[in-house]
Amino acid sequence: MEVATGKSILNGIAIGPLRIYRKAEAQASAGTALSPEEEWERFEAARVQAQEQLGVLYEKALEEVGEDNAAIFEIHQMMLDDDDYLDAVKGILETQGATAEYAVSATGENFSAAFAAMDDAYMQARATDVKDISQRVANILSGKAEGSLLGDEPAILVADDLTPSETVQLDKSKLLGFITRHGSSNSHTAILARTMNIPALIGVDFDESWDGRLAVLDGYNHCVYIDPAADLLSTMEEKQKNDLKHEALLQTLKKKPNVTLDGREIKVYANIGNAGDIGLVLQNDAGGIGLFRSEFLYLESEDYPTEEEQFLIYKRVVETMAGKKVIIRTLDIGADKQAAYFHLDQEENPALGYRAIRICLTRQEIFKQQLRAILRASAFGTVSIMFPMIISVREVRDAKELLEACKAELRQEGVAFGQVEVGIMVETPAAVMIADELAEEVDFFSLGTNDLTQYTLAIDRQNPKLDHFYDPHHPAVLRMIRQTVEAGHRHGCWVGICGELGADQTLTETFLRMGLDELSVSPSAVLPLRKIIRSLDLSKEPEA
Ligand code: PEP
Ligand code: MG
Repeated sequence: MEVATGKSILNGIAIGPLRIYRKAEAQASAGTALSPEEEWERFEAARVQAQEQLGVLYEKALEEVGEDNAAIFEIHQMMLDDDDYLDAVKGILETQGATAEYAVSATGENFSAAFAAMDDAYMQARATDVKDISQRVANILSGKAEGSLLGDEPAILVADDLTPSETVQLDKSKLLGFITRHGSSNSHTAILARTMNIPALIGVDFDESWDGRLAVLDGYNHCVYIDPAADLLSTMEEKQKNDLKHEALLQTLKKKPNVTLDGREIKVYANIGNAGDIGLVLQNDAGGIGLFRSEFLYLESEDYPTEEEQFLIYKRVVETMAGKKVIIRTLDIGADKQAAYFHLDQEENPALGYRAIRICLTRQEIFKQQLRAILRASAFGTVSIMFPMIISVREVRDAKELLEACKAELRQEGVAFGQVEVGIMVETPAAVMIADELAEEVDFFSLGTNDLTQYTLAIDRQNPKLDHFYDPHHPAVLRMIRQTVEAGHRHGCWVGICGELGADQTLTETFLRMGLDELSVSPSAVLPLRKIIRSLDLSKEPEA
């Protein structure tokens, strides 16, 4: 048995033969060309055909993976109409007397190299796209049909890289999973794979000998086993069966409302740590994102992520959610979440220390950079901003003032942004006690029960020795939640829970009776929660 590791872009298990996909590059010799005018006509005819193919792909993607993910094919169509691109092809035909195949392939390579060298992450991402469109036209010119990536038997596809158009063309009935050597987890290809719900690994170093061998792709553990041992194979088959049972549950509950038997509705949203989790959100049919823990962007970086880098990530999430609410929590770094480049001091009591909003209000340049990035992303969908670790009205006012300053800057620069709701995490006893005053300042509260339990019970949530004492069902915690809901509602704020307790099914009925408006949980907990909600009847007395 051989084992190779990579980076999983979708949890799941795939079992089957590996099939290595070798791209059939169009022959692009500079050899016997017709006149430049005739080669240009050949190019133009192929370009029109490529545009038609892209139109068909767009429609297919629209149906299968939604408008936002299909948009890549519109981008490809636009790129094929781009004047600079067309001038470059023409220039090669005229100055080098080359074939149209050669001119288009060379233009694809040149533009791709130029895009890859740019600082702008968006343009860098276009490097693969320009190669993709050029390959498409070259294939048409050389009479090559688009290669079938898979054979007749279902298989796990192995490739150096897959372009978005290759990915969306994959016949899902034949595709068990895919493994690539290159590619980023933020690429459109990865987004499509997640949306299509296909277990996939990237960054895997494979070799030719893998072709045709039996393998287990274990997306949960980021690895692939080639020629798996018998006991491992049966364990994985069992795991796969359990996944299928879960899938069946998903299927029956998808698109159904989160409404009790007596008609009370509650929103069920999902928590995410980065843009890579968005596939799970879609897959589990969450109504929105109730907590985007933005600090993970900082933790994954070697240095402060720039406004532009953050903007692109927030925008991707917001666009993918296509108008559904995305609540972005501002930087909650410190305590257990440390990034070396922040140069935070060692502290005696880090959970009670310099963290979250305390850092943001004292290092305002970092905070403003994030607020600007979030505001800019808000032009692309429905965004809410949420401040963590609030203990006072002063903090909320200061944070809002900085937000207003960022809005004024953007207005002045002529940069668009949308309407954003502003809310706070209620995760300190202080916030609960002054919830009436805080509610006057914001649109919503989201209860961070992980920290609220820690601070209410005076128990370090990081200390495993105290697990036995860490009791989020403690009456003090439950009363705090009730008080927060009542105070929020008195002042027109909606109130949700985004801490782990929100997914605790033994408390779902209690939360509904308390009047919570939203529960935000890990994506895989969305549908089980929906099941419970739909089985409750609040018109009946609660069982003692
Ligand atoms: C919480 O404290 O409940 C919460 C959701 O935030 P985090 O777990 O990220 O501290
Ligand atoms: Mg917290």
